[in-house]
Amino acid sequence: MSFHTHACILSTGDEIITGQLLDTNSRYLAEQLTSLGISIVEFAAVPDDLDALVHTLRRLASRAPLLIMSGGLGPTEGDLTRHALAVATGQGLVTDEAALRHLTAWLAGRGRTMNERQARQALRPSGATCLPNAVGTAPGLHSRIDSPTPGSAGTDVFCLPGPPGELSSMWLASVVPMLRPEPSRVVATRLLHVVGIPEADLVTRLGPLMKRDRVPLIGVTASQGVLTIRLRMAASTGSAQAEQALDADEATLRELLGDHLFGRGQDTLPAVVLSTLRDRHETLATVESCTGGLLGALLTAIPGSSASFAGGLLTYSNDLKTRLAGVDPALIAAHGAVSEHVASAMAAGGLHATGAHHAVAITGIAGPDGGSPAKPVGTVCIAHAWQSKSGTSGPTAPVSVDVRRFRFTGDRDDIRQRAARTGLAMVYFQLFGRPLSEPRLLWQLDAPK
Ligand code: ATP
Repeated sequence: MSFHTHACILSTGDEIITGQLLDTNSRYLAEQLTSLGISIVEFAAVPDDLDALVHTLRRLASRAPLLIMSGGLGPTEGDLTRHALAVATGQGLVTDEAALRHLTAWLAGRGRTMNERQARQALRPSGATCLPNAVGTAPGLHSRIDSPTPGSAGTDVFCLPGPPGELSSMWLASVVPMLRPEPSRVVATRLLHVVGIPEADLVTRLGPLMKRDRVPLIGVTASQGVLTIRLRMAASTGSAQAEQALDADEATLRELLGDHLFGRGQDTLPAVVLSTLRDRHETLATVESCTGGLLGALLTAIPGSSASFAGGLLTYSNDLKTRLAGVDPALIAAHGAVSEHVASAMAAGGLHATGAHHAVAITGIAGPDGGSPAKPVGTVCIAHAWQSKSGTSGPTAPVSVDVRRFRFTGDRDDIRQRAARTGLAMVYFQLFGRPLSEPRLLWQLDAPK
């Protein structure tokens, strides 16, 4: 028997093809296969169309010894997976008596009787076996599609139901025990998170490390101002060697990127900022306008945030900027609510109002309306104020302020998300000892002369 060294994943459903439903099944299967050391060579998604299904089943079977498919096993006209598998394997459909008995009992247990539609779910290609469904009606299927090349091994095909709970329970109970990953083959992966460097600059800094044929393979993805470096290495020599190779690459990347590399794995920027504050016995407060509490939400989403997050003021109107954060109305009149002056005053006011050691203030124009030639949509001023003598707090303590103007791109949601994370990045770099206003961040504009 050959090993399942690599696999393809196929999902079916008009709702996936039209973008109505996010294909989380494929993501789950990809994570599971990767953790078993089985590499993915292709993801595919097709509509509920017999020809498309048969064609794709055959094509993917020619690419890998393992094919996992989800969806299309239910009782409706659009559920075509068993027919497609029958055509692709050149077999007729027969009723699986054990599956029919299970289905009848399952329906009876819910006070329902079997009808013709339901009974279709007990059909299987004659050479296939049914996989029991412990939490739903539709059984899964396991079959083999022979290779067109004589002498070469065929492909194991597993068809699983679309509902994610049914899919994962069948996957764990019936599919995983039948998989044959190559012994001692592992696919080791590691994620490293970076802030404060544009994606193009990061790629330039990494240079030959990013070559597509390099082992471990290194890739970068960007999301809302945070870059994630992905290290991946498939090895037939066991996990220790792969982990060593990833450790060596991580050390090189840490050397190259310094404090820009803020975390690995599940680490997030808010979690790292909060844990650093906690270690220093310091607290953070927020004073938000255009982000409407988003920064506070990012922080409070982290378990244990109360140890270092004091709370926040949501000062959307000018009146509340004055009444809650103590911003002088004359400053707003002179410079506008979206200005470095007002952001600084909001942050300093937030420090005084909350007694926290740090305060981040965000004021900007998230759009789509409200922009002007001088302050177009996406203009956001962010200030970080902190008690500059460590350990001090209260109205008389000396305060330092880092204030910057940004022009974020994207729609309203992007602008708000990017502003909230950029506020965190400003705190992060100050906590890690960077001089005032360093480093220059993505979307940052030059200070007015
Ligand atoms: P059923 O017996 O429920 O009809 P099925 O195997 O026919 O199962 P589908 O009809 O294709 O599955 O999908 C049923 C539901 O499962 C979808 O409405 C959706 O909620 C969920 N689903 C299907 N495919 C996916 C997917 N790839 N990712 C996440 N959810 C999915």
